[in-house]
Amino acid sequence: MAQLIDGKKISAQIKEELKEQTAQLKEAGIEGTLAVIQVGDDAASSVYVRNKKKACEYIGIHSKSYELPSETTQKELLKLIEDLNADDSVNGILVQLPVPAHIDEKTIINAISPDKDVDGFHPESVGSLTIGQPGFVSCTPAGIIELLKRSNVEMDGKNCVIVGRSNIVGKPMALLMLRENATVTVTHSHTKHLKEICRNADILIVAIGKKEFITGEYIKPGAVVIDVGIHRDENNKLSGDVKYEEAEPIASMITPVPGGVGPMTIAMLMHNCVEAMTR
Ligand code: NDP
Repeated sequence: MAQLIDGKKISAQIKEELKEQTAQLKEAGIEGTLAVIQVGDDAASSVYVRNKKKACEYIGIHSKSYELPSETTQKELLKLIEDLNADDSVNGILVQLPVPAHIDEKTIINAISPDKDVDGFHPESVGSLTIGQPGFVSCTPAGIIELLKRSNVEMDGKNCVIVGRSNIVGKPMALLMLRENATVTVTHSHTKHLKEICRNADILIVAIGKKEFITGEYIKPGAVVIDVGIHRDENNKLSGDVKYEEAEPIASMITPVPGGVGPMTIAMLMHNCVEAMTR
């Protein structure tokens, strides 16, 4: 039976630590503000935005909310970002993705000052990560590293297979695992012999976006399995990219869905906000 990697508990610990840090910063006269911009009223985005604002309140930083109508033009959004970039009272800027189709996501990401890029999506942040310089790191992969470290999973010299190569999960995850001295294989939809490759993984990280795609056959006995996927069925039940009932008896450690990687993403966003305050 695999040991559970408890993202709920670990994210709560991180938020407690950040709360203490913000209290100390406040004593030194440093306050933090995160600007959260949402364009349109996508229901899932509204939930994410609400949770991010709640987390800010919990750890003791201000949040400024910009709920813009879906007809907002790209020019108007860029103007708001420009104003927030210039506003010294704002440390972090977050544009909730996806944005409506008439707005170009890349242009928006590129407009956010790298100094306030708490999502870690700006090309400068990604470039810094690539060459090992300080910068904001994408929250979900950074959260996975925290999960592994705080669960005492040795990464140095281990075979790590990442399923998925998205800009927000797979690619930064590979760079972070390299930084931890793992031997990294990144797989994607053109990969041949995926099952065999996965079965070679000491640490298997799955971010594929396909419900329960990774079955027991993909898992080496004793592997550590990290499931990034989130899928909600018609009864609101959540599941991941890994078939949990099959993986759990084979793995040595595993993240559940919900309660694994999910809670870490917001905790690491808060971590980035506190980092922005201390810069
Ligand atoms: P994307 O859809 O952007 O990327 C999916 C990746 O999986 C792509 O690189 C794709 O390959 C690869 N892929 C698709 N099919 C296969 C296949 N048959 N074999 C091998 N690789 C395949 O997804 P994201 O990275 O954004 O998200 C992945 C999952 O994680 C989703 O379920 C998402 O909801 C969840 N998620 C959860 C977060 C959290 O906080 N827990 C945060 C972010 C995402 P190719 O590049 O060739 O198309």
